[in-house]
Amino acid sequence: MKIIYKCSQCNSEYEIKPEIMLCPICSKDQKPNEPLRGILEVVYSSDSSLEMDDLFPIEKKWFPKIPVGNTPLWQSENLSDFPNLYLKDDTHNLTGSYKDRASILVAAFARKYGIKEIVLASTGNAASSMAGVGAACGLDITIFLPKTAPKAKMVQSLQYGAKVISVDGNYDKAFDLSLEYSKKFNLLSRNTAYNPLTIEGKKSVSLELFQQLENAPDYVFVPVGDGVIISGVYKGFKDLVQFGFIEKMPTIIAVQAEGSNAIYKALESGKFEPIESQTVADSIAVDIPRNGYYALQQLQKYNGKSIMVSDDEILSAQKQLSEKAGLFSEPAAASSYAGFLKMKDELPKDANIVLLITGNGLKDIDAAMKKIKFPEKHINSIEDIE
Ligand SMILES: *Cc1c(COP(=O)(O)O)cnc(C)c1O
Repeated sequence: MKIIYKCSQCNSEYEIKPEIMLCPICSKDQKPNEPLRGILEVVYSSDSSLEMDDLFPIEKKWFPKIPVGNTPLWQSENLSDFPNLYLKDDTHNLTGSYKDRASILVAAFARKYGIKEIVLASTGNAASSMAGVGAACGLDITIFLPKTAPKAKMVQSLQYGAKVISVDGNYDKAFDLSLEYSKKFNLLSRNTAYNPLTIEGKKSVSLELFQQLENAPDYVFVPVGDGVIISGVYKGFKDLVQFGFIEKMPTIIAVQAEGSNAIYKALESGKFEPIESQTVADSIAVDIPRNGYYALQQLQKYNGKSIMVSDDEILSAQKQLSEKAGLFSEPAAASSYAGFLKMKDELPKDANIVLLITGNGLKDIDAAMKKIKFPEKHINSIEDIE
């Protein structure tokens, strides 16, 4: 078995090691205000047949023994009249979001190479994820977080014992500052897309879906910000096709917020333009989708689709998921359901459809509070109840 990095642009091959993050050739052409160039993909080659556990670049013994992945895939009785609609419920991960899938692989990598400290920028979930996963296996975590990050995500990160640097600016600024910092002090970066293992770690969902459904689904709805989850989903299914586990790729639907739609627009026009993102779904709010070029390449190659949902559609979907299925997700996570609701008339009724539910609702109660009303009166006896 051979495992290497391969550049998604120029196909140059590299050894997997801490010094290599982006393709050194293609990243030379990096311009400001555009997605990252020279994204590296992990590529496996083997003459013999493989187990699914072999499809990771770090041996399983280095993975911290924590509950990440293998999340429930379940069906809600009341959510929809589509008989084969499934919720892939990643609120069940250690820190309550899908980001743990990337963090656990980066942590395993750090352990294998004797690295003790990891740096990253985040809108909130990657931070709390790396903080929690790092805490579980004794790594020091430094986080660059925009000052506007939801409080619970900041609390989570601090609670796990990470060092939090609050940035007077948005996620994109935090991303750039954290890279400057990790380069200056020669530290391992877990910045999403920049570290190729973030994409590779996020593929685990596809391997699980294959095991849970005993086949590939027909459609997967994915909330998209930086475009790393969706790329991981593609990568997992590509590996499954390569090694003969499945025959064809599912149709992947990228769901974006109207106010943060860079990848949606690029799929229409073929190019990326700077936007100023603004959406209630903080986890998918990005001005520059860092994995934009790679995600677009996958969507184009495998006939993926993209759909936009408004903040109100997201918040309604979030409320419905809670009320009808008992699943309290954060807004970004509910956007996959919002996307499904918007597109369902175009889908075959009996298709196997998976919604990725990527984060827990308690991480952002301010967003949920937009659709609920607190009781106004306090009672003293049951006679006071109206
Ligand atoms: C990060 C995140 C996303 C989007 O993932 P990208 O890789 O940035 O596209 C979606 N939902 C939640 C809850 C997230 O934390």
